[in-house]
Amino acid sequence: MLYYFFDIDGTLLLSGGAGRVAMTQVMKEMFDLDELHRVEVHGRTDRGIVEELFSKHKIPLDQQRRIEFSDRYHDLLPESMQQCEGLLMPGAVDLLEQLSELPKVKLGILTGNSESAAWTKLKHFGLDHFFEFGGYGGDHALRDDVARQTLVNCRNTYPDHTIEPAQAWVVGDTVNDITCARAIGAKVVAVATGGADLASLQEHQPDLLLSDLSDHQHFLNATHGSVKP
Ligand SMILES: [Mg+2]
Repeated sequence: MLYYFFDIDGTLLLSGGAGRVAMTQVMKEMFDLDELHRVEVHGRTDRGIVEELFSKHKIPLDQQRRIEFSDRYHDLLPESMQQCEGLLMPGAVDLLEQLSELPKVKLGILTGNSESAAWTKLKHFGLDHFFEFGGYGGDHALRDDVARQTLVNCRNTYPDHTIEPAQAWVVGDTVNDITCARAIGAKVVAVATGGADLASLQEHQPDLLLSDLSDHQHFLNATHGSVKP
């Protein structure tokens, strides 16, 4: 059995900045801020992004504010996805279709998005039905912790499976995706459609490096070809 843990932004789709638009609107509503300090979002978690955003604006982030921010962000995101011109990454849908038809393959999500934001983005593009479990960045500031949680959630989803980390393939677009895979002992496909170029991904030695997800045969041979029946 193989378990694929897919990142969302920059790997399966681009939201066209929908998250940033929604977050900017929330900060406007909560604190009357017109312009936000820039915060790196590629490969980061929602929790980490929000913590840095509040810190840069010198606004204390207590539990009540965290919940208020998160609730409003999740309210606004579906409309923000409609407004922003996002797109699917080349080959992503066909690859998910091929993987989902294979026996002994399970598909999950490993994303920096909070759970609600992740499913909003997947549903917007009709990708939600491919995935049966996930780990999310709403509760963990560090992506390595999201990876650990994804493995736990995967095991909880299939309690009768014995799941070794080496049976998991993380698929993601940033150096953080590679390092979080290593943190749990998983293999990793790095794809240069989002937050990093081929050369910087190569430096961190992913098991497979692709310019995009359109060469399905290459992807399947490298990740699935080695699986024992
Ligand atoms: Mg990403």
